[in-house]
Amino acid sequence: MIPVQGFERQKVAVLGLGRSGLATAAALAAGGAEVLAWDDSAEARANAEAAGFSLNDLGRADAWQGVAALIVSPGIAHLYPAPHKLIARAMAEGVAVDNDIGLFFRSWAGEDWDQFDVTPKCVAVTGSNGKSTTTALIHHILQTAGRPTQMAGNIGRAVFDLAPAVEGEVVVLELSSYQTELARALTPDVAVFTNLTPDHLDRHGGLGGYFAAKRRLFAEGGPDRAVIGVDEPEGVFLADQLAVGPEDDRVIRISSGQKLGAFGWSVFARKGFLAEWRKGRQVASVDLRAIAGLPGAHNHQNACAAWAAVRALGVPPREIEAALHTFAGLPHRSQTVAEAGGVRFVNDSKATNVDSAAKALQAFARIRWIAGGLGKEGGIGALKPHLGAVVKAYLIGHSGRDFALELGEVPQEICETMERAVARAASEAEPGDVVLLAPAAASFDQYANFEKRGEHFTALVKAHLGLA
Ligand code: ADP
Repeated sequence: MIPVQGFERQKVAVLGLGRSGLATAAALAAGGAEVLAWDDSAEARANAEAAGFSLNDLGRADAWQGVAALIVSPGIAHLYPAPHKLIARAMAEGVAVDNDIGLFFRSWAGEDWDQFDVTPKCVAVTGSNGKSTTTALIHHILQTAGRPTQMAGNIGRAVFDLAPAVEGEVVVLELSSYQTELARALTPDVAVFTNLTPDHLDRHGGLGGYFAAKRRLFAEGGPDRAVIGVDEPEGVFLADQLAVGPEDDRVIRISSGQKLGAFGWSVFARKGFLAEWRKGRQVASVDLRAIAGLPGAHNHQNACAAWAAVRALGVPPREIEAALHTFAGLPHRSQTVAEAGGVRFVNDSKATNVDSAAKALQAFARIRWIAGGLGKEGGIGALKPHLGAVVKAYLIGHSGRDFALELGEVPQEICETMERAVARAASEAEPGDVVLLAPAAASFDQYANFEKRGEHFTALVKAHLGLA
C-alpha cells in the first residue's frame, strides 16, 4: 500500500466504499489522516465497518466542519446528470473534491526515491475503447522485457493497492473519463489517448464534456510524451494543440489505417503491418497478422498505442515484437478460448455496444455470430455495413427477436439461450469459421455481468468440445 501524503492529522471524507474507496480510506489512514467514511448503500457501509473503518454520516448538519477534502468513487456523479447531494454540499462548503487518482499522483513518490538511480515512471491510458487491452499490453511488454512494473486503475486493481515503487519501476494506469475529470493531480510521464467514440454522455453533459474530461490528462498533466490516436477529429485536434509543429516528437501520433510518416514520431498499422517512423524515416516494422492475441484492426490500434508508449520508455523494437507474440489477450475481449477442427471460438463478451461489436465483426473472415442480450437504445442498424463476414447469426436474450428483425436477409436463428446458441453454432461450423460471441448488448437480462456471460460461453464451448 502507498500511504497518502499531505493530510496528516486532517479530516478527509471518503464517499463510496467499494474496492477503490476502501483502499483509499486505508491509504489515508496509513498517512495519518482522520477518515470519515460514508456510502449510501447499507451493504457497503457494513462491509466497511467489517473491514475496520468507522462510519460518519456526511449528511449531518455539522459533518463538514474542518474537513480538508472529499474523495469520491468514479461511479458517483459529481456534475452531470446532477451532482450527488453530498458532493454538491462539499463544493458549496468549499471542501476540495478529489479522487484516488489525484491522491495517488501526489503521494506516489516515496522518501526512498532519492536513493534511486532510475526514477519510477507512470504511464496513464485513456480513451473510449481499448483502454484495458492497451494497458495490459504495455504491462505485458514491460514485464517480458524484464522491467519492474505494476498495473492498476480502471482495470480492476485500485491505485492504493499498488505496492510502493521499486527502482526503475513503471506503473501502468488505466483511467476512465470519470477518473480524469475529477483528479486534482494528473502527472503521468507518458499519457496515451487511444480513440474517441460517444459514451457515458449523461455523465459528461455531452460529447464535448466527455472529450474535455479525457483531454485533462494531457492539458493539466503535461506528460513528457503524449501518445495520441488520430483516427478521429478529437485526436487530431489534441495532437495538433500539444505539439509545437509536426516535427515535435513529444507527441507520438498513432493510427490504425492511416500512413503518418510526415511527423516527428508516429506509429501506425496498415494492412496488418505496424510501422514506426521517426524524423521522416521508418525505424521499425512488424507483421501483426501472425499475432493471435491481437486480432483485427482495432487491436492493431492498441498494439500501436502500446508500442509507442514502451518505445517512449526506451524498450527496443525487437523486445517489443517478441512480447507481442506472447500476449494472450484479456479475458472477454477478442479472446480465443478454444480451437478445434479448424474452428476458432472467440469470446468478446465485453462487446456490449454496437461500436465494439462492429470492430469484432471486422476482425475475422467467416463468422458464426452469437449476439443479443439487453440491447441498447438505437438498435443494431449501425452494424449493417459490418455484417459481410457473418455466415449466420445465433440470437439470444431479451433483444434476440429485435435483432433478428434488424438483420433482415442475414441467415439467422433465434436460439434464446447461450446453451442453444453455442450448440447450434458449434455443430454447424466448418473449418475456417470463427464462432464469435460479440453480443452488441448488455448482459443483465440473463447474467450478472459481461464477465459471467463470457465465462458461460467459454464453459459451454469447452464442454461441447470435450475439453472441460
Ligand atoms: P476499454 O477498457 O476501453 O473498455 P477494452 O480493451 O476492455 O477497452 O475493450 C472493450 C471492447 O472494445 C472489447 O469488445 C474490445 O474487443 C473492443 N476494442 C478493443 N480495442 C478497441 C479499439 N482500439 N477500438 C475499438 N474497439 C476496441
